[in-house]
Amino acid sequence: MSILDWVRRSAELIAAEAERLSRLDAAIGDGDHGHNLDRGFAAAVEALPEHGTPGRALVVAGRTIVSTTGGVSGPLYGMAVRRAGKELGDAGVVDAVRLGAALRGALETVQELGEAQEGEKTMVDALAPAVAAYEQALAAGGDLAECTRAAADAAERGAQATVPMQARKGRASYLGKRSIGHLDPGAVSTALLIRALADLASEHA
Ligand SMILES: [Mg+2]
Repeated sequence: MSILDWVRRSAELIAAEAERLSRLDAAIGDGDHGHNLDRGFAAAVEALPEHGTPGRALVVAGRTIVSTTGGVSGPLYGMAVRRAGKELGDAGVVDAVRLGAALRGALETVQELGEAQEGEKTMVDALAPAVAAYEQALAAGGDLAECTRAAADAAERGAQATVPMQARKGRASYLGKRSIGHLDPGAVSTALLIRALADLASEHA
């Protein structure tokens, strides 16, 4: 599976869903999430190096996302992607074990920078169950396609589970109980990014 293809596929998915993501954000935030991420991932595609390792490509993509994605959460996505790249190191090929480490690293970075735990209605509510499901599938002997599919399914369930949650982080938390009853846009976009991974892994399986 090509990591460059993941950046490109993610950018396509985010572009296609930008309107919906911003609408979700409008309900509990400032309505810019989809368009911010769209700008960041489009810039990341342009910045992808033609040569070098998958890890290097992710570091460049992540750095680009940090510098071009607005909002509070934008830099979190970029830092997570950058961390994933660092976890891949200088490996020439992304296998299931390395990708698991990259996902775990991305989660750690998001939790550290965002100071977020599960249940606070953030992207962590998609990413944390995705990483757990990935690691469980890996431990059960799953290959890249199986592990990423488990992660994507868990991320989507996790995103859906943010509806009854009250936001504890970010702008949405100012709404208090009025944040209940809405999807968290960051959890939804995170699930899209992991679905892109699973789609590519299954196409190349
Ligand atoms: Mg926003």
